[in-house]
Amino acid sequence: MHLDEIPRERIARLPTPLEPLPRLSEALGGPRIWVKRDDLTGLAFGGNKVRKLEFFLAEALEQRADTLVTTGFVQSNHARQTAAAAAKYGMRAALLLIGDPPPHETGNLLLDRLLGAEVLWTPSAEGRDRELDALMDRLHADGARPYLVPHGGSNELGALGYIFAMAELADQLKAEAVEMDAVVTATSSGGTQSGLVMGAALFAFNSEIVGISVGPERDVVRARLSAITSAARDRWDLPVEANAQQFEVHDDYVDGGYGILTDLERGAIHLAARHEGLMLDPVYTGRAMGGLIDLIRRERFTSDQTVLFWHTGGTPALFAYSDRLAPPGSDLW
Ligand SMILES: *Cc1c(COP(=O)(O)O)cnc(C)c1O
Repeated sequence: MHLDEIPRERIARLPTPLEPLPRLSEALGGPRIWVKRDDLTGLAFGGNKVRKLEFFLAEALEQRADTLVTTGFVQSNHARQTAAAAAKYGMRAALLLIGDPPPHETGNLLLDRLLGAEVLWTPSAEGRDRELDALMDRLHADGARPYLVPHGGSNELGALGYIFAMAELADQLKAEAVEMDAVVTATSSGGTQSGLVMGAALFAFNSEIVGISVGPERDVVRARLSAITSAARDRWDLPVEANAQQFEVHDDYVDGGYGILTDLERGAIHLAARHEGLMLDPVYTGRAMGGLIDLIRRERFTSDQTVLFWHTGGTPALFAYSDRLAPPGSDLW
Protein backbone atom coordinates (compact mmCIF):
# COMPACT_ATOMS: atom_id res chain seq x y z
CA MET A 1 0.00 0.00 0.00
CA HIS A 2 1.23 3.46 -0.83
CA LEU A 3 1.82 5.57 2.28
CA ASP A 4 -0.58 8.25 1.05
CA GLU A 5 -3.44 5.74 1.11
CA ILE A 6 -3.10 4.95 4.81
CA PRO A 7 -6.18 6.31 6.62
CA ARG A 8 -5.47 9.56 8.42
CA GLU A 9 -7.60 12.07 10.34
CA ARG A 10 -6.35 15.59 9.73
CA ILE A 11 -6.33 17.04 13.23
CA ALA A 12 -2.88 18.68 13.25
CA ARG A 13 -2.46 22.22 12.04
CA LEU A 14 0.15 21.73 9.34
CA PRO A 15 2.66 22.74 8.23
CA THR A 16 3.99 23.89 11.57
CA PRO A 17 6.13 27.05 11.37
CA LEU A 18 9.83 26.87 10.50
CA GLU A 19 11.66 29.81 12.07
CA PRO A 20 15.27 31.01 12.39
CA LEU A 21 16.62 31.69 15.90
CA PRO A 22 19.20 34.40 15.16
CA ARG A 23 19.58 35.77 18.69
CA LEU A 24 20.02 32.33 20.20
CA SER A 25 22.52 31.40 17.46
CA GLU A 26 24.47 34.57 18.17
CA ALA A 27 24.46 34.02 21.93
CA LEU A 28 25.88 30.53 21.45
CA GLY A 29 28.42 31.55 18.82
CA GLY A 30 27.84 28.24 17.09
CA PRO A 31 25.85 27.07 14.06
CA ARG A 32 22.85 28.88 12.64
CA ILE A 33 19.91 27.39 14.54
CA TRP A 34 16.37 27.09 13.21
CA VAL A 35 13.34 25.69 14.99
CA LYS A 36 10.46 23.55 13.72
CA ARG A 37 7.47 24.49 15.87
CA ASP A 38 5.67 21.23 16.60
CA ASP A 39 4.65 22.83 19.89
CA LEU A 40 2.11 24.51 17.58
CA THR A 41 0.37 21.45 16.10
CA GLY A 42 -2.85 22.99 17.30
CA LEU A 43 -4.72 20.55 19.52
CA ALA A 44 -4.90 21.46 23.24
CA PHE A 45 -1.45 23.13 23.44
CA GLY A 46 0.03 21.02 20.63
CA GLY A 47 3.07 18.79 20.61
CA ASN A 48 4.50 15.90 18.62
CA LYS A 49 1.85 13.34 19.59
CA VAL A 50 -0.79 15.11 17.49
CA ARG A 51 0.97 14.03 14.27
CA LYS A 52 0.97 10.43 15.49
CA LEU A 53 -2.63 10.55 16.68
CA GLU A 54 -3.85 11.33 13.15
CA PHE A 55 -3.17 7.68 12.30
CA PHE A 56 -4.35 6.15 15.57
CA LEU A 57 -7.62 8.08 15.37
CA ALA A 58 -8.23 6.86 11.83
CA GLU A 59 -7.69 3.27 12.95
CA ALA A 60 -9.86 3.77 16.05
CA LEU A 61 -12.69 5.15 13.89
CA GLU A 62 -12.38 2.22 11.47
CA GLN A 63 -12.78 -0.09 14.45
CA ARG A 64 -15.79 1.94 15.67
CA ALA A 65 -14.03 2.56 18.97
CA ASP A 66 -15.70 4.87 21.48
CA THR A 67 -12.88 5.17 24.03
CA LEU A 68 -9.18 5.98 23.60
CA VAL A 69 -6.96 4.36 26.21
CA THR A 70 -3.32 5.20 26.83
CA THR A 71 -0.64 5.48 29.48
CA GLY A 72 2.20 7.78 30.52
CA PHE A 73 3.78 9.50 33.49
CA VAL A 74 1.91 12.08 35.60
CA GLN A 75 2.85 14.98 33.32
CA SER A 76 2.42 12.97 30.11
CA ASN A 77 2.02 15.18 27.06
CA HIS A 78 0.97 12.12 25.12
CA ALA A 79 -1.89 11.37 27.52
CA ARG A 80 -3.08 14.99 27.32
CA GLN A 81 -3.02 15.06 23.50
CA THR A 82 -4.82 11.68 23.39
CA ALA A 83 -7.50 13.03 25.76
CA ALA A 84 -7.91 16.08 23.51
CA ALA A 85 -8.24 13.94 20.37
CA ALA A 86 -10.88 11.81 22.11
CA ALA A 87 -12.82 14.91 23.17
CA LYS A 88 -12.72 16.32 19.65
CA TYR A 89 -14.20 13.11 18.23
CA GLY A 90 -16.85 12.62 20.92
CA MET A 91 -15.01 9.65 22.40
CA ARG A 92 -14.11 8.97 25.99
CA ALA A 93 -10.51 8.84 27.17
CA ALA A 94 -9.12 6.61 29.90
CA LEU A 95 -5.57 7.45 30.99
CA LEU A 96 -3.48 5.15 33.14
CA LEU A 97 -0.90 7.45 34.71
CA ILE A 98 2.26 6.20 36.39
CA GLY A 99 3.05 7.72 39.77
CA ASP A 100 1.09 8.94 42.75
CA PRO A 101 -1.79 11.40 42.50
CA PRO A 102 -0.23 14.79 43.36
CA PRO A 103 -1.89 17.01 45.99
CA HIS A 104 -2.23 19.85 43.48
CA GLU A 105 -3.27 19.14 39.88
CA THR A 106 -1.59 21.39 37.35
CA GLY A 107 0.10 21.32 33.94
CA ASN A 108 -0.91 18.38 31.76
CA LEU A 109 -2.85 16.71 34.55
CA LEU A 110 -5.08 19.76 34.92
CA LEU A 111 -5.67 19.69 31.16
CA ASP A 112 -6.51 15.94 31.28
CA ARG A 113 -9.26 16.83 33.77
CA LEU A 114 -10.56 19.76 31.72
CA LEU A 115 -10.66 17.48 28.66
CA GLY A 116 -12.92 15.12 30.60
CA ALA A 117 -10.58 12.14 30.70
CA GLU A 118 -10.96 9.35 33.23
CA VAL A 119 -7.64 9.24 35.12
CA LEU A 120 -6.40 6.04 36.78
CA TRP A 121 -3.17 5.56 38.70
CA THR A 122 -0.50 2.90 38.90
CA PRO A 123 2.46 3.39 41.24
CA SER A 124 5.25 2.27 38.92
CA ALA A 125 6.05 1.45 35.30
CA GLU A 126 6.55 -2.25 36.13
CA GLY A 127 2.88 -3.00 36.73
CA ARG A 128 1.69 -0.85 33.86
CA ASP A 129 1.07 -3.45 31.17
CA ARG A 130 -0.88 -5.71 33.49
CA GLU A 131 -3.02 -2.79 34.65
CA LEU A 132 -3.62 -1.69 31.08
CA ASP A 133 -4.89 -5.18 30.25
CA ALA A 134 -7.18 -5.04 33.28
CA LEU A 135 -8.45 -1.61 32.22
CA MET A 136 -9.17 -2.82 28.67
CA ASP A 137 -11.03 -5.85 30.12
CA ARG A 138 -13.07 -3.64 32.43
CA LEU A 139 -14.02 -1.29 29.57
CA HIS A 140 -15.04 -4.23 27.37
CA ALA A 141 -17.09 -5.67 30.23
CA ASP A 142 -18.84 -2.30 30.60
CA GLY A 143 -19.85 -2.49 26.95
CA ALA A 144 -17.35 0.14 25.74
CA ARG A 145 -15.24 -0.24 22.57
CA PRO A 146 -11.77 0.80 23.70
CA TYR A 147 -8.83 1.47 21.38
CA LEU A 148 -5.37 1.25 22.91
CA VAL A 149 -2.93 3.96 21.76
CA PRO A 150 0.57 2.60 22.44
CA HIS A 151 2.87 4.18 25.01
CA GLY A 152 4.16 7.47 23.56
CA GLY A 153 2.20 6.81 20.37
CA SER A 154 5.30 4.97 19.22
CA ASN A 155 4.84 2.10 16.83
CA GLU A 156 5.03 2.05 13.04
CA LEU A 157 1.63 3.73 12.73
CA GLY A 158 2.62 6.63 14.98
CA ALA A 159 5.99 6.97 13.25
CA LEU A 160 4.13 7.70 10.01
CA GLY A 161 3.39 11.13 11.45
CA TYR A 162 7.09 11.89 11.39
CA ILE A 163 7.74 10.28 8.01
CA PHE A 164 5.23 12.81 6.63
CA ALA A 165 6.71 15.56 8.81
CA MET A 166 10.03 15.05 7.04
CA ALA A 167 8.35 15.56 3.66
CA GLU A 168 6.77 18.73 5.08
CA LEU A 169 10.15 20.00 6.27
CA ALA A 170 11.78 19.26 2.92
CA ASP A 171 9.15 21.43 1.17
CA GLN A 172 9.63 24.27 3.65
CA LEU A 173 13.42 24.21 3.31
CA LYS A 174 13.12 24.31 -0.45
CA ALA A 175 10.84 27.35 -0.21
CA GLU A 176 13.27 29.07 2.18
CA ALA A 177 16.30 27.98 0.11
CA VAL A 178 18.04 26.69 3.23
CA GLU A 179 19.73 23.35 3.85
CA MET A 180 20.15 21.70 7.23
CA ASP A 181 23.28 19.84 8.21
CA ALA A 182 21.50 18.23 11.12
CA VAL A 183 18.13 17.89 12.79
CA VAL A 184 18.15 17.62 16.58
CA THR A 185 15.20 16.18 18.50
CA ALA A 186 14.36 14.89 21.96
CA THR A 187 13.91 11.13 21.83
CA SER A 188 12.29 8.66 24.18
CA SER A 189 9.76 6.10 22.97
CA GLY A 190 11.19 6.51 19.46
CA GLY A 191 8.28 7.29 17.14
CA THR A 192 9.58 10.74 16.38
CA GLN A 193 13.22 9.96 15.63
CA SER A 194 12.49 6.72 13.76
CA GLY A 195 9.92 8.53 11.61
CA LEU A 196 12.36 11.33 10.83
CA VAL A 197 15.10 8.86 9.91
CA MET A 198 12.74 6.88 7.67
CA GLY A 199 11.45 10.09 6.12
CA ALA A 200 15.00 11.25 5.43
CA ALA A 201 15.76 7.94 3.67
CA LEU A 202 12.53 7.95 1.65
CA PHE A 203 12.78 11.55 0.53
CA ALA A 204 16.56 11.59 -0.01
CA PHE A 205 16.98 14.21 2.67
CA ASN A 206 20.64 14.49 3.56
CA SER A 207 20.66 15.94 7.10
CA GLU A 208 21.86 13.86 9.99
CA ILE A 209 19.12 13.12 12.51
CA VAL A 210 20.41 13.46 16.05
CA GLY A 211 18.39 12.23 19.04
CA ILE A 212 18.93 13.49 22.57
CA SER A 213 17.60 10.88 24.98
CA VAL A 214 15.49 12.25 27.81
CA GLY A 215 15.86 9.12 29.94
CA PRO A 216 16.70 5.71 28.49
CA GLU A 217 20.26 4.64 27.71
CA ARG A 218 21.46 4.86 24.16
CA ASP A 219 21.15 1.17 23.40
CA VAL A 220 17.61 1.04 24.75
CA VAL A 221 16.58 3.94 22.51
CA ARG A 222 18.39 2.44 19.52
CA ALA A 223 16.61 -0.88 20.03
CA ARG A 224 13.26 0.94 20.06
CA LEU A 225 14.13 2.90 16.91
CA SER A 226 15.20 -0.23 15.13
CA ALA A 227 12.07 -2.17 16.19
CA ILE A 228 9.72 0.58 14.96
CA THR A 229 11.67 0.90 11.71
CA SER A 230 11.63 -2.80 10.93
CA ALA A 231 7.89 -2.99 11.72
CA ALA A 232 7.26 -0.11 9.28
CA ARG A 233 9.51 -1.65 6.64
CA ASP A 234 7.68 -4.98 6.87
CA ARG A 235 4.18 -3.56 7.03
CA TRP A 236 4.48 -1.12 4.11
CA ASP A 237 7.42 -2.62 2.27
CA LEU A 238 9.56 0.48 2.69
CA PRO A 239 13.14 0.70 1.37
CA VAL A 240 14.61 1.61 4.79
CA GLU A 241 17.32 0.05 6.91
CA ALA A 242 16.56 -1.02 10.46
CA ASN A 243 19.97 -1.71 12.00
CA ALA A 244 20.30 -0.09 15.41
CA GLN A 245 23.83 1.27 14.87
CA GLN A 246 22.73 3.80 12.24
CA PHE A 247 20.84 5.91 14.81
CA GLU A 248 22.72 8.77 16.45
CA VAL A 249 21.48 8.96 20.04
CA HIS A 250 23.17 10.91 22.85
CA ASP A 251 22.46 9.74 26.37
CA ASP A 252 24.93 12.02 28.19
CA TYR A 253 22.16 14.26 29.53
CA VAL A 254 20.07 11.76 31.49
CA ASP A 255 21.98 11.81 34.79
CA GLY A 256 19.14 13.47 36.58
CA GLY A 257 16.75 10.75 35.36
CA TYR A 258 13.55 11.16 33.36
CA GLY A 259 11.73 14.35 34.28
CA ILE A 260 14.27 15.45 36.89
CA LEU A 261 15.31 19.03 36.29
CA THR A 262 19.00 19.98 36.41
CA ASP A 263 20.90 23.17 35.52
CA LEU A 264 21.18 21.87 31.96
CA GLU A 265 17.43 22.13 31.35
CA ARG A 266 17.02 25.28 33.45
CA GLY A 267 19.81 27.02 31.53
CA ALA A 268 18.34 26.04 28.16
CA ILE A 269 14.82 27.12 29.14
CA HIS A 270 15.98 30.54 30.33
CA LEU A 271 18.23 31.04 27.30
CA ALA A 272 15.54 30.27 24.72
CA ALA A 273 12.93 32.29 26.59
CA ARG A 274 15.12 35.38 27.03
CA HIS A 275 16.70 35.44 23.59
CA GLU A 276 13.83 34.32 21.40
CA GLY A 277 10.63 34.42 23.45
CA LEU A 278 10.55 30.68 22.81
CA MET A 279 9.21 28.43 25.55
CA LEU A 280 10.81 25.03 26.02
CA ASP A 281 9.55 22.37 28.40
CA PRO A 282 11.34 20.92 31.44
CA VAL A 283 11.28 17.23 30.47
CA TYR A 284 11.97 16.98 26.73
CA THR A 285 12.84 20.11 24.80
CA GLY A 286 14.72 21.74 27.70
CA ARG A 287 16.94 18.67 27.92
CA ALA A 288 17.29 18.41 24.12
CA MET A 289 18.27 22.08 23.81
CA GLY A 290 20.69 21.66 26.72
CA GLY A 291 22.19 18.74 24.82
CA LEU A 292 22.42 20.76 21.62
CA ILE A 293 24.24 23.52 23.49
CA ASP A 294 26.69 21.00 24.93
CA LEU A 295 27.24 19.42 21.50
CA ILE A 296 28.03 22.86 20.12
CA ARG A 297 30.54 23.34 22.90
CA ARG A 298 32.07 19.95 22.07
CA GLU A 299 32.18 20.92 18.36
CA ARG A 300 29.86 18.19 17.20
CA PHE A 301 28.21 21.17 15.49
CA THR A 302 30.36 24.01 14.17
CA SER A 303 29.68 27.63 13.30
CA ASP A 304 29.69 27.03 9.54
CA GLN A 305 26.75 24.63 9.90
CA THR A 306 22.99 25.03 10.03
CA VAL A 307 21.07 22.98 12.56
CA LEU A 308 17.34 22.47 12.99
CA PHE A 309 16.00 22.07 16.51
CA TRP A 310 12.73 20.15 16.34
CA HIS A 311 10.49 21.55 19.08
CA THR A 312 8.33 18.60 20.10
CA GLY A 313 6.07 20.51 22.52
CA GLY A 314 5.46 19.73 26.17
CA THR A 315 5.17 23.31 27.40
CA PRO A 316 2.16 22.76 29.72
CA ALA A 317 4.51 20.79 32.01
CA LEU A 318 6.35 24.07 32.77
CA PHE A 319 3.60 24.94 35.22
CA ALA A 320 4.05 21.70 37.14
CA TYR A 321 7.73 22.61 37.61
CA SER A 322 7.18 26.21 38.69
CA ASP A 323 9.02 25.67 41.99
CA ARG A 324 12.15 24.35 40.22
CA LEU A 325 12.65 26.85 37.42
CA ALA A 326 14.86 29.51 38.99
CA PRO A 327 17.75 30.47 36.68
CA PRO A 328 20.88 28.32 37.19
CA GLY A 329 23.78 29.77 39.14
CA SER A 330 26.17 29.86 36.19
CA ASP A 331 25.62 30.35 32.48
CA LEU A 332 25.44 27.27 30.30
CA TRP A 333 27.01 28.84 27.25
C1 LIG B 1 6.74 12.26 23.75
C2 LIG B 1 7.59 13.45 23.61
C3 LIG B 1 8.88 13.38 23.03
C4 LIG B 1 9.52 12.09 22.63
O1 LIG B 1 9.04 11.59 21.41
P1 LIG B 1 9.14 10.03 21.14
O2 LIG B 1 8.48 9.87 19.84
O3 LIG B 1 8.42 9.38 22.29
O4 LIG B 1 10.57 9.62 21.14
C5 LIG B 1 9.60 14.54 22.88
N1 LIG B 1 9.10 15.73 23.30
C6 LIG B 1 7.89 15.84 23.87
C7 LIG B 1 7.46 17.17 24.34
C8 LIG B 1 7.10 14.71 24.05
O5 LIG B 1 5.90 14.83 24.64
